[in-house]
Amino acid sequence: TSSTRPQRLLRAVQRKATKGDPQSVISAIDYFCRNSEWAMNVGDEKGPILDSVVCEVSPATALELGTYCGYSSVRIARLLPVGTKLITLEFHPDYACIARQVIQHAGLEDKIFLVEGASGDLIPKMADMFGISTFDFVFLDHWKDRYLPDLKLLEECQLLRKGSVLLADNVICPGTPDYLEYVRNSPRYESRYFQSHLEYTKVEDGLEKSVFLG
Ligand code: SAM
Ligand code: MG
Repeated sequence: TSSTRPQRLLRAVQRKATKGDPQSVISAIDYFCRNSEWAMNVGDEKGPILDSVVCEVSPATALELGTYCGYSSVRIARLLPVGTKLITLEFHPDYACIARQVIQHAGLEDKIFLVEGASGDLIPKMADMFGISTFDFVFLDHWKDRYLPDLKLLEECQLLRKGSVLLADNVICPGTPDYLEYVRNSPRYESRYFQSHLEYTKVEDGLEKSVFLG
């Protein structure tokens, strides 16, 4: 076929998920990825770890790096306190277009700002664009060699406060060795690994939760 994987994923959502029901959107995507085509969503095994960190932090300001089809955006936004918006960054226009439709199907378009562009360009603009002073929660799930430079950029732009929580996906597979080495050895972070598996597989992967100590 000439369609793309994100387009087929969207079609699965439109066919199987109930409009306005985020959980049914999540389930439809996981079903598609387990039974039809693998896709790079945080997925149904690491997803509950993400959920529990979001609930624990209960952020008033939240940032996601790497939207893809909007799976994790829906997961995060459905758990945010009333009034909190998730800002999610995606530089691939075709993925952003699919994600907007997935988010709309879940009925979460009022809780999610999807900004199209590269994280390195957009992070320094967060204060001006959104009036953000600091982020309570940041989910890192874009290209793996960008985790460390973007963390340093968040620090430089003073977008982290004492107690801000970073959650990084895929720290083992594909892996982010420079980022892990930084957050685990810097006295400015308290870091912990949550072991799991790469989405929809049995390959080891996990999430690293790092609290900024100021
Ligand atoms: N978080 C999504 C989920 O779990 O449903 C999956 C995100 S996928 C692993 C990574 C995405 O980040 C891709 O769609 C890619 O286009 C995007 N991306 C990679 N580097 C980026 C950057 N520097 N700025 C913005 N988007 C980026
Ligand atoms: Mg990931």
